[in-house]
Amino acid sequence: MAQGVSQRNMTPPSNQFQTHSSEETTDLGRQLAAELKPGSVVLLRGDLGAGKTTLVKGIAEGFSAAEAEAVTSPTFTLIHEYSGPEVTLYHIDLYRIDTQRELDTLALDDLMEPNTILLIEWGEKFERFAKERDFEIAIEHHGADERQITFLRKT
Ligand code: ADP
Ligand code: MG
Repeated sequence: MAQGVSQRNMTPPSNQFQTHSSEETTDLGRQLAAELKPGSVVLLRGDLGAGKTTLVKGIAEGFSAAEAEAVTSPTFTLIHEYSGPEVTLYHIDLYRIDTQRELDTLALDDLMEPNTILLIEWGEKFERFAKERDFEIAIEHHGADERQITFLRKT
């Protein structure tokens, strides 16, 4: 683990992490990137402001796809693309997407390739992604700057 990220609650086989600042969450994202496989769908779960986008900053750095500062919320643009040497990340925010029809216009299927990873915020709104996800990262507020982050892999 990187310095600063508490290893409390991290005893195998549990995949729970505590962070105490956005920097620690970005650090954790860098490390979790190593666990994510190309060709997968990752659901990022948690309330508004939980830290989903912050975690993506680290994941993008982990794949050498973007600097943390360059990663911003796709709330309005819906999809951001970050290309690394081996993997292209699509960071998708479905918060404003409510109907199947709106979802279809995003043509997310076209983004799923062996060398891409879809990182989806609010994907659980659609049953399809709730079922299809290969990984799920859930973030819970635990106090002002404290977050509990759970990493799950499809079994
Ligand atoms: P989301 O994408 O889940 O809506 P963001 O990542 O955009 O959330 O925002 C998280 C906010 O919470 C940021 O303002 C960040 O600085 C703040 N924050 C405070 N502590 C943490 C932490 N431990 N992990 C992540 N973000 C944190
Ligand atoms: Mg976000």
